Amino acid sequence: LTEQLQKKETNTPVKVAVAQGDGIGPEIMKATLSILKAAGAQIEPEFIELGEKVYLSGNTSGIDSKAWEAIRNNKIIFKAPITTPQGKGYKSLNVTLRKSLGLYANLRPVTSLYPYVPTNFPTMDVVIIRENEEDLYAGIEHRQTQEVYQCLKLITRPGCERIVRYAFEYAKAYGRKKVTCMVKDNIMKLTDGLFHRVFDEISIEYPEIQAETQIIDIGSARLAASPENYDVIVTANLYGDIISDIAAEIGGSVGMCGSANIGKEVAMFEAIHGSAPDIAGKGIANPSGLINAAVAMLAHIGQAEIGDKVKNAWLTTLEQGYHTADIYQEGVSAQKVKTQEFAEKVIENL
Ligand code: NAD
Repeated sequence: LTEQLQKKETNTPVKVAVAQGDGIGPEIMKATLSILKAAGAQIEPEFIELGEKVYLSGNTSGIDSKAWEAIRNNKIIFKAPITTPQGKGYKSLNVTLRKSLGLYANLRPVTSLYPYVPTNFPTMDVVIIRENEEDLYAGIEHRQTQEVYQCLKLITRPGCERIVRYAFEYAKAYGRKKVTCMVKDNIMKLTDGLFHRVFDEISIEYPEIQAETQIIDIGSARLAASPENYDVIVTANLYGDIISDIAAEIGGSVGMCGSANIGKEVAMFEAIHGSAPDIAGKGIANPSGLINAAVAMLAHIGQAEIGDKVKNAWLTTLEQGYHTADIYQEGVSAQKVKTQEFAEKVIENL
């Protein structure tokens, strides 16, 4: 996709389907788009409605046909978090999007190498590569009796091969030294066993990259205690979701990390966190996760130089000590700033 886009005139804007999301979504999206505009990103946002508002209007899929059309035409989605009710209500639109669009790889780089952001683990720099369409997350659940419910864990060989190969190719392309596979195949011998087996088979093709496998429970405990020992982690959908939040939080805040959902034709960029209803409407959310997602999107559409400019301005802002409430620390930070104020400081540093 990058090659196709690079062949276009460099100053032709790339159309991007932009979803403002729920909760803190519109606040962090506004802040991020203002930075992208000031940086001269050659993108043309096409705003689409999806999430809570669409559900509440009676559309149970949470996404209307106009939004689907914009996504299929533009092939790039820039999305703020959306709300999905817990334990009841409509199906997660995130799952629908990832599955319908074949976004099989979810990349979550988590680093604590940010100057002056308080963390007990200042040397973490790990990329979590999460399978994005299968596993317990496929949403195949049913009731057997009044008291028994069942959720199907779906793992396929093609799914494992695609994500494991993606992880090794990623490691090779970015000069990473080690790929760790995390599974629970001492218990789920067939499903997680297949993931592990495929990992062993494919790792042989990459002798220059160290390959290791850890059981997910001790693996996540070790990741929390000594994250500096991890480089690239490849794992199944649900495990990847959980360990990336843990890693982001120990790195400073879940509000810091962006992610890319990559498919063969379409790619979607978003923050790793949710819609944070507890702080929505207060203008205090950290827009950094979405800013980092935007940087990844710019690289993906062939505008890496502009992405680097945004990333450097963002790093300078953190270094100057302008911190949102989630990372603010008395005596370390220079000033506590709100969402839009943070964006304005980034713009000054471009
Ligand atoms: P959450 O990530 O929204 O919030 C967890 C905690 O982190 C909260 O205390 C929140 O205030 C804080 N937080 C999150 N992002 C922050 C930011 N940018 N700046 C400062 N603080 C931040 O998780 P949750 O509360 O479990 O979920 C809320 C809703 O989001 C749920 O409906 C869930 O389904 C949805 N969700 C959506 C996505 C997505 O759209 N990709 C991902 C995860 C959760």
